[in-house]
Amino acid sequence: MINRSRNGFHTAPMSKQEIIKWLKEEDPRRLEELWRWADIVREASVGPEIHLRAIIEISNYCRRACGYCGINCHNNEVDRYRLSEEQILNSVRQVADDGFRTVVLQSGEDYGFSVQMIDNLIRKIKSQTGLAVTLSLGEREKSELRQWKLAGADRYLLKIETSNPQLFNRIHPMQSSSWSNRLEMLHFLMDLGFEIGSGIMVGIPGQTYEDLADDLLTFWELDIDMLGIGPFIPHPLTALGQNNYSAFKDQTPNTEITAHKVNALARVFCPDSNIPTTTALATLNKTNGRILGLQRGANVIMPNMTPIEYRPLYQIYPGRVCLDESGKQLIKAIHQTVKSLGRVISDDIGMSRNYLKRTGKKIAI
Ligand code: SAH
Repeated sequence: MINRSRNGFHTAPMSKQEIIKWLKEEDPRRLEELWRWADIVREASVGPEIHLRAIIEISNYCRRACGYCGINCHNNEVDRYRLSEEQILNSVRQVADDGFRTVVLQSGEDYGFSVQMIDNLIRKIKSQTGLAVTLSLGEREKSELRQWKLAGADRYLLKIETSNPQLFNRIHPMQSSSWSNRLEMLHFLMDLGFEIGSGIMVGIPGQTYEDLADDLLTFWELDIDMLGIGPFIPHPLTALGQNNYSAFKDQTPNTEITAHKVNALARVFCPDSNIPTTTALATLNKTNGRILGLQRGANVIMPNMTPIEYRPLYQIYPGRVCLDESGKQLIKAIHQTVKSLGRVISDDIGMSRNYLKRTGKKIAI
């Protein structure tokens, strides 16, 4: 076991073998114990509050060729769009009015947005709405990240997708990035003072149980502030969309239950992190995927608040939910769900408790 003080533990909360045992567990009674464990840890660390984040997908242009992603640069069937500054600001004002306290600006890796455009946007969002700003714009130059932090951006999401560098390279062919670049960027973001988020997909073709165990140990080691984990959902127009799963040894399933197991274990490993119940989970189980996530470790909901006419164009995988909900409708439904769970919607910007501890800032909750 690695002996470092991370996420409140001096040694990792369990060994690789123990993680793998949980990941392969099928006994429903044992799994109930895992869900309960995650729920107890969540309540004791981040409490009953649920944070809402409005995601606005500001562009589906992408220079990368990620083998899993439907908006990769080789997919000619995608109608590409890039929102104007005015369209983005209108959406941001709308979500602020709906009651959100954080906006997440997400896009493909689109250099059509210059460093200065994003800088202006961040400044305008902060001065006009006071919302916390999370960026999820892929890999960008260090100078750009520094400029955006100075402009007032609070958080950055960059998924490593897998902690196995060989698997990473297999699913990111050609002009795509390398695993070590991603890791280096996460460390750089941390040094700049961002709250940092990362995450993985569960059930990537060629991913083993040992890989998933390593993912959890990696997040623990990184002392990550936010963690997004969802099932891999094949997209027919991608390289990985056609895979024959039986070809791989010790292959992890891309099922709902496996994704829940990884999320529950993530809560145990990273008790103070903000963990969303992901849209990919809700896509696999439209009735109660989101609620189950909240009952098994998650404390964040990230609804898609992209202008409705653009939502179908950001098709990273097929069948995405919430393509037609408006802010007010959705918030009302979420309030009901949260109340039925005996939880509450937070009314502050919901900084990660892990970030506050990691940086020695005052803990407000
Ligand atoms: N371009 C930015 C933000 C992309 S958001 C970046 O690369 O960081 C896209 C996220 O959606 C990915 O990080 C991935 O985890 C998820 N995703 C993409 N394709 C997916 C698929 N087929 N199934 C499940 N999740 C997928």
